[in-house]
Amino acid sequence: MAGLAASLLVPKVVRGEKSAAKPFDWADDSIHYDPHDHKWGMGVDINKCIGCGRCSNACKIENDVPKEPFFFRTWVERYQVQENGETIIDCPNGAVDGFKKETESDDVLRSFFVPKLCNHCENPPCVQVCPVGATYQSADGVVLVDADYCLGCRYCIQACPYGARFLHPVTRTAEKCTFCYHRIVRGEEPACVEACPTQARIFGELDQKASPLHRFKRMNRIGVLKPALNTEPKVFYANLDMEVK
Ligand code: SF4
Ligand code: SF4
Repeated sequence: MAGLAASLLVPKVVRGEKSAAKPFDWADDSIHYDPHDHKWGMGVDINKCIGCGRCSNACKIENDVPKEPFFFRTWVERYQVQENGETIIDCPNGAVDGFKKETESDDVLRSFFVPKLCNHCENPPCVQVCPVGATYQSADGVVLVDADYCLGCRYCIQACPYGARFLHPVTRTAEKCTFCYHRIVRGEEPACVEACPTQARIFGELDQKASPLHRFKRMNRIGVLKPALNTEPKVFYANLDMEVK
């Protein structure tokens, strides 16, 4: 923890210039996007999530995430709080196929689903530890990985307190959620948001009062994951249970 706290004091790498921002082709003339004009975030309403896993599945397809059940950019966990005080957490294959009713535990006081992904931390430990600046924070707040620079050293994977990163088995570079950067630069929503049948996920501008995300934050009791770490997540949860880790 001391190492983490020290790392948070190091100035963060912020890129926003078109030549550096990836993972998409800035030379594509059809894209007119300036990261300085945006500040992105996501809202997740726990009460609306039904654990269908369409978000996880859509993400795998959209981002060509390896099919093996160790690699996810987003996943959904099921929490089952039991009468004896224990909490069972499961996440079969990232929930890409949803959850089976028969795997529900007896004696459950309450049960709910928690979609997870990279929190695009305002103070991202993964960025601080990258020795070559391959992991960086874009001017719009999105934390990205430049695969051309990534050494595959795994420092960022170890530093992320949310387990949001993995090493791609083929490219041997670090991977994680990008908020579907290739889509948002075109004005589209991330694939998980588009796929969600209950609007449990909301994507949008953090600093624009008229945006749905801004309204979501105003209208709900908001929590973030592991707030004590001072990472300042930009994924905001409504109705977050105190049992969620
Ligand atoms: S959640 Fe993990 S990978 Fe994402 S920005 Fe924070 S530390 Fe980095
Ligand atoms: S698609 Fe929506 S409702 Fe289904 S698991 Fe994902 S967040 Fe929950």
